[in-house]
Amino acid sequence: MDEIIAKACQSCGMPMNTKADFGTEADGSLSKEYCTYCYQSGAYTDPAITIDEMAEKGGAMLAQLYEIPPKNAKEFAREQLASLKRWAGREVPLCASCGMPLARDEDAGTEADGSRSGTYCTYCYRDGAFTEPDLTKAAAVAKYAPMMAARLGMPVEKAKGMVEQYLSTLPRWQG
Ligand SMILES: [Zn+2]
Repeated sequence: MDEIIAKACQSCGMPMNTKADFGTEADGSLSKEYCTYCYQSGAYTDPAITIDEMAEKGGAMLAQLYEIPPKNAKEFAREQLASLKRWAGREVPLCASCGMPLARDEDAGTEADGSRSGTYCTYCYRDGAFTEPDLTKAAAVAKYAPMMAARLGMPVEKAKGMVEQYLSTLPRWQG
């Protein structure tokens, strides 16, 4: 009943891992979608904020936390926000292995019968199986962190922390 399913806030993208991270509905229950900073008693705490303002705030936080050049951090934050329910108008499913948004049909992996997976991307999952079945979370961090570091112009060590944190919100790496 009280079990928490970790996920990213659908307003700001913050990973919500513990009860205290989740916002609240009007009846006092925990929000299933939004974090405590964005959503209280069934309403946004800042109802007028735009996606650009949110990207500005989120980017500044990422820049400081992970030593990312501010301009790159803001662009990255905006990309992430664009697949969240508050900004996209629907919750774009993220690959449960790597977190890539499954925005288009061709982004999705395939099941054994050739149908599209609703859960995993085409890079992680084909013909009903993981492309790298033995990948561990630590190996995934080691694999994705240098890519992230190169893309955002940040130290690899910082990228490891960021990727680790991010992967912890994805179903493949939970439990
Ligand atoms: Zn994937």
